[in-house]
This record gives sequence, structure tokens and C-alpha cells, in this order.
Amino acid sequence: MKAVLAREPFDVSVVDVPGPEVRPGWVLLNVRAVGICGTDLYAYRGLHPFLTYPRILGHELAGEIADIDAEDAAKSGLSVGDHVAVEPYLNCGQCHMCRAGRSNACLKLEVLGVHCEGGMCERLVVPVEKAHKPTRPLSDDLLALVEPIGIGAQAVRRARVASGESVAVIGAGPIGVSAMLMARLAGARVAIVDLEATRLARAAEMGAELTIRPQERDVAEALLAFGEGLGPDAIIEAVGMPATICQAIECVRAGGRVAIVGQSNKPLDFSYGPMMKKELDVVASRNSAGLFPGILAAMVEGRLPAEKMITHRVGMAEVPGTLADMDARPSEYCKAVVRI
Ligand SMILES: [Zn+2]
Ligand SMILES: [Zn+2]
Repeated sequence: MKAVLAREPFDVSVVDVPGPEVRPGWVLLNVRAVGICGTDLYAYRGLHPFLTYPRILGHELAGEIADIDAEDAAKSGLSVGDHVAVEPYLNCGQCHMCRAGRSNACLKLEVLGVHCEGGMCERLVVPVEKAHKPTRPLSDDLLALVEPIGIGAQAVRRARVASGESVAVIGAGPIGVSAMLMARLAGARVAIVDLEATRLARAAEMGAELTIRPQERDVAEALLAFGEGLGPDAIIEAVGMPATICQAIECVRAGGRVAIVGQSNKPLDFSYGPMMKKELDVVASRNSAGLFPGILAAMVEGRLPAEKMITHRVGMAEVPGTLADMDARPSEYCKAVVRI
């Protein structure tokens, strides 16, 4: 079968590889759509901290069930022909994190396309419980968006966002936009901060009440006003730079919450004073756990205008060129979806 392989940094191509073996407890999928993520771009550029080469990329996956064991089908309610969203986090089920319902940070976690082969290929097997079927059929494009939206949803959960609150999201890339959508779904008002005007315009179109461009106005002042003169109840950091993490800690109101979902491998050097003085809850957010069904339900009910995230649709052969273009012109992209 064909697969998109990163052989080493800056060397991504479509290659022929053996197809997967069907096994009990796992379901065989014909992959239909794959979102290209910042993770894939990091893999392309050789900047990902855990990823080893060669690696088949892709973890934002929609597939159609091609084969499932009869017993598994009976247990799961899945059948051949169903279109599903794939939860790409393979967890051990036994460690203390898995037992606590925090499989997203399992001690032995393997993410498809990062620690093991991904799904940017024609066929894929995944554990039955990782295939999520919506209650009514959704497009493959939407199904491929469930995983990145889950990243935002987990950050919103970690920030304990409640209805009626003011929330700021720093960063209007796909993860920031996902967090914005999920905070809105939770009933919060959302302000979003980004350097790029095109990204802010897209976020406004998708429901952000206030957009803030640091080149045009003072972020701290704008967020203070947005949060009724106190600052926002919660801030979700979706950039992953030391400066924006510090900005979140500085701008959130006293007693507020900061959830960091932006990834960084830079050391963080910050003044601890504001965090202590305001008695903040500052937490990290990784992947998602147990959130796929709720996201699918919101999509089915038409309460999640997620499709607007898709700015580009490409075929498998165009992936290497698309990665190079995303690297050169990142703000032109929110989500590119590969149709398989
Ligand atoms: Zn992703
Ligand atoms: Zn585990």
C-alpha cells in the first residue's frame, strides 16, 4: 500500500510499504482523511522531541471499517462500512494514569505517527475501542478534525472553563482555535491573541468575541478589560513559547487558571511572583482522554462549526509539497486535510 514516510528531516515521500495484519481486538480501516498537524511539520523539520525516523506520519484520522472480528463487532456496535474517527493514543491500560482515567498521559503511551507508525497510508489497524463512530454519519473531513479538537477540549477541561466565564486563548493556530471552539461550547466568552491578522480573522469568523494583535494594542490591557477589569477567569496557552506562557501567568485574574497546551522544548525562565501572589492554578494539558464521544455528539448536533478550520484539501502525493509550503507560509494554513 502507499504511505507517506518521513525518512529523515526534510525527506518526506510517498512510498510502498506492506499493509497491516488484521488481529483480534483490532479493526482494519481504509483510511479516508488525515489532518496535517504541527506535529507532522515538526517531524518534517526534525524538531520533534520524541519522534524517531523513518516514520509514517499522521495521527488525525478518519477511516472506513474494512474488516472487524464478529465478536468485536457485537461488543462495539461497529460494522464494516462505518466511518469512524480514530483516537490515536495507544495506552497500556494498567499504569496508575490509565487506572485514573488519564490514559492521555499513560506512562507507556504510544501516539500513532509519533512513537509508532501513523495513518497517512491506505490501510491501518487500530484497537476496536479507539474507533469512534458518530450517532449519525459525518463527513470524513469532520471525523479527521475530532483529534485536534480533542486537544483543545482537553485544555478547556484542564482549565475548568465554566459557562459565563471569560477565557483568553493565546495562539490562533489549529489548537488555539480548537480551544476557542470548545470554550465557546462550554458557554464562555473567548478572546484570542495572535500575531497574524489572517489567523485572527479566521478565529473571529468561527466565534471569538475579541481578537487581539500584539502589534496593534497592549495585550495585558485588552485582557484586563475583557475580564471585567480583573483579567480573564482562565487563559489557555496554545503557542508553547516561554514568553507567551509568562504572558498567560501575568494576564490571568487573581485566583484564575492557566492551562498550557502549546508544546516547547525550551527551558522556562520566569518570575514566580505573580503566580504566587495571585494563587494561580497552572496546569499542563496533553492529548485528550474520553472526549471523542462528546465532540462527535456536538458535531452531529451542529453545535461545533469545525469545518471552517479546513483551509486546504490535498491528495497523498501533494503532502511533501504541502509540508514545505506550511513551513514557508504557516499563517496561510489552519488545517490541511489529506484525502486518501
Ligand atoms: Zn495533531
Ligand atoms: Zn498506562
